[in-house]
Amino acid sequence: MNNKGDADNMIKNNDKSIVLGIDIGGTTCKCGVVTTDGELLYKDEIPTRKDDGGSLILSDIKNHIPDMLSAAGMKSDDVAGVGIGVPGAVKDDGTVNKCVNLGWGVFNVAQTFNEMTGYKVKAGNDANMAALGEYWMGSAKEYSSSLFVTIGTGVGAGVIVDGKPLCGYNGAAAELGHLPVVEDEQEYCNCGKKGCLEQVASATGIVRTATRMLNESGEPSSLRDIPYISAKVVFDEAKAGDLIALNVVDYVCRYLGKGIACAAGMVDPEVISIGGGVSAAGEFLLSRISKYYKEYVFHASRNTQIIQATLGNDAGMYGAARLVMND
Ligand SMILES: [Zn+2]
Repeated sequence: MNNKGDADNMIKNNDKSIVLGIDIGGTTCKCGVVTTDGELLYKDEIPTRKDDGGSLILSDIKNHIPDMLSAAGMKSDDVAGVGIGVPGAVKDDGTVNKCVNLGWGVFNVAQTFNEMTGYKVKAGNDANMAALGEYWMGSAKEYSSSLFVTIGTGVGAGVIVDGKPLCGYNGAAAELGHLPVVEDEQEYCNCGKKGCLEQVASATGIVRTATRMLNESGEPSSLRDIPYISAKVVFDEAKAGDLIALNVVDYVCRYLGKGIACAAGMVDPEVISIGGGVSAAGEFLLSRISKYYKEYVFHASRNTQIIQATLGNDAGMYGAARLVMND
């Protein structure tokens, strides 16, 4: 069923026993020391310094590596490679195609970090890395292919086929959050378009949807008494039976189900795994996404399971580590 033996073959041909997984985020870089068997030996975080066009980020990571290694009881010679997840489009060769969150333009992050450190380096998009992490050591471990969807500040996704993340020609494969699924959207998405899935289904999109529905309705709602509405609040009130909150959740899940059905229609994964902060809503969320997924998807993919991701914020680190073990 699964063909995840590639990494084992690599271990036999290589006496280096660990890889470093670095997940660069807009606020912090999550740094992990991972064995080639997938055991996380050590993890921590350093701040992402975005000053000066993000030019300090890679040198901060480089300077942090000795601390990580000594905390894990390892030395530089043990390192088989470094995988890096970046919050933006990354081509297969490691070229970042602009990363607004970090202030980065177009450059080859893998090559640059290799020149800085001498390590073998691979880089990929952060959602693709999280997808690979879940596939390797998390929720999709028992499956041969997967679609991973993360619902957090934004909506992202990654597709794993033949043990590898689908990167795309421009490094922009599986940009689920920017599928244009909402007709008649009046406001612009961060990407500059209108009608993206992310505009209604990210954590901020859910709050936006809730605010709109509250304004349009004269009905009473427990949401009206809450000074600060978050996605979690919307789900909590929906679980408690508030009708407007339930409508918001239903609306959001309809679009998520539709977007995921579109993605599944193209790649037909064996399993669909849902992560990100909003996925904490659990079965309440998954069952509703699933309902609409079944309604929209091509019949052959109708019974594909939709499951909850298990690695949380560590998924990207695991995936980045796994990436550098490929080929
Ligand atoms: Zn967009």
